[in-house]
Amino acid sequence: MFLSFEGIDGSGKSTQARLLADSLRESGQEVVLTREPGGSPGAEEIRRLVLEGDPDRWSAETEILLFTAARRDHMERLILPALAEGKVVICDRFADSTRMYQGLSRGDLRALVDTLHDLMIGREPDLTVLIDMDPDTGLARAIGRGGAEARFEEFGPDLQRRMRDGFLALAQDNAARFRVIDGNRPVDTVASDVRATVDSALR
Ligand code: C5P
Repeated sequence: MFLSFEGIDGSGKSTQARLLADSLRESGQEVVLTREPGGSPGAEEIRRLVLEGDPDRWSAETEILLFTAARRDHMERLILPALAEGKVVICDRFADSTRMYQGLSRGDLRALVDTLHDLMIGREPDLTVLIDMDPDTGLARAIGRGGAEARFEEFGPDLQRRMRDGFLALAQDNAARFRVIDGNRPVDTVASDVRATVDSALR
């Protein structure tokens, strides 16, 4: 079973991915918790290449190529082998983040993201949990947390809003795969909602 978490910066998706992993492990499941960009040694190197340093170092097109290469490595080395062993894979961000961040943020490059995805990845998660969050709250949280790799300052409030709308539209267009969870609530409430949603979707 392949699950992904998506959402804007500061939505709490990493916390929720970790809590779901803990909860499924307590129920006796073997879980691999991983993240993108990154997740395998090669993909983590690509993450550093893209997210650290000068944000204008790569064009949007090159960034899409780099993230697709990272994802391919992550799939080959970690995700597909774990799925073949019957494990649950939980991925904090996957291709939908590239569809949003690279596909929308610097011009309309969504078609390029999708074409490369079809060519080199060719697989979607069985279920994607979108943690929906008020964009201004998410931005404030992300700024409060800081971190060398964070790009929210480059993105700013307008883009954060566009990303949120973009994720909701993506969820609507792919309703069979997506579940939208209201992240504007206490962590434990969101976590039990996530667990119930995953259980019922997979039943
Ligand atoms: O999810 P995480 O906090 O690890 O992401 C690190 C940064 O990379 C975030 O600021 C996010 O907006 C950005 N990002 C990106 N393109 C992606 C995925 C994440 O620019 N495909």
